[in-house]
Amino acid sequence: MRFEISKVLDAIEGRVRTDPALARGVLDLAEVSRYRDFDNGRPASLLRLGVVVDALGRAMEEDNVPVYAVVHRAMLSDADLTSNERMVVRRWADDGLVEVLDNPGDRLLEVADLLGLPVLTRARFDGLNGRFPWLAEPGRVLAPVPAAGGAALIAHVGGGAKPVSGARSTAGAQLLTRRWRCPEPGCALFGDAGGGGGAFADLARSERKPDGQPPPSLRAGVPSCPRHQTRLADAGARPRTEVLAVRIGGLVRQRFAVTEGEPVLVGRAPDGDGGITLGQWLNDEARRWISRSHLRIELHGGDLVAHDVSTNGSGVRPAGSMVETERVALPPRQRRVLGRGDLIELYPGVQVGRAAELPSAAPYQPTSVMAEAPTMAMRLPRP
Ligand SMILES: [Zn+2]
Repeated sequence: MRFEISKVLDAIEGRVRTDPALARGVLDLAEVSRYRDFDNGRPASLLRLGVVVDALGRAMEEDNVPVYAVVHRAMLSDADLTSNERMVVRRWADDGLVEVLDNPGDRLLEVADLLGLPVLTRARFDGLNGRFPWLAEPGRVLAPVPAAGGAALIAHVGGGAKPVSGARSTAGAQLLTRRWRCPEPGCALFGDAGGGGGAFADLARSERKPDGQPPPSLRAGVPSCPRHQTRLADAGARPRTEVLAVRIGGLVRQRFAVTEGEPVLVGRAPDGDGGITLGQWLNDEARRWISRSHLRIELHGGDLVAHDVSTNGSGVRPAGSMVETERVALPPRQRRVLGRGDLIELYPGVQVGRAAELPSAAPYQPTSVMAEAPTMAMRLPRP
């Protein structure tokens, strides 16, 4: 039982991140952990985060959709959680996967505003429409509610189930052109581990998680660390990033960010950290065709370059065309600059392209993060 729960928590861990390029919704972890009506169980449970994350993925018709979690510091010592759950939240905090705050205040809404993300909450924000006009737009705030086998989302405005993302606010767009450094030693959000550069930048690089820095908090117009409430130092330009996605059998399985100077390997089971592993989603024939490392995606200036590093080669679907006669070969060891809409096809039906140009085109068959959950109540139905 304990082992099973650990596996679920590991699966959920892969779905919390503060990377502005990859997070798809923002939530308050303490609030979500107390949605007791999901399972009529303990007063607080971390597993409920998995239920909400699954609901978001289903609503977005994408697999592996991560959320940006804001966590009240009191949660690290919440006696309603198991000691294992408290340990897991502390680890997420230390790794900068979640944002732990003494006083979250309206940080939830600030993150949503800066990044243009939908908010998952049951809380009402009456009176804040002046500051955050998008609160009045349909689908920007959704309440996770119990539904057959898990949870569903219901928009506060409009009543739909579809989360709606907006543009980053002007302030958000500006803040995200720079890297920031917190003066507090060991800051998990804006420390050296977050890639601030400096004298030990090269040393830190190998240890660094590939995530981008979270958005600073604006306190009276000054970029500040939301955790330490200190003024952040400008640590130089943030390298350019493009968000790509892998679509397999019509379903977007995974998004990933490619940053200038940090190529990403995609394949059956690429070596090293930060690679995109496709093996789990492939049938036998596709597994035989696709190399362990098949594609290397690089960003040079504004150019996205796909470099085939495979044994068997790839194909290109120019401008995303699914017409077979328009598909062109990308032979082994060749590279191609991706034009607008271009998809690289590692094997028929296994495609990589810019995330914005690669929507899911098939009914969603979720691989639930809750698949290993210990009780039937926590399981999601197979469609
Ligand atoms: Zn800090």
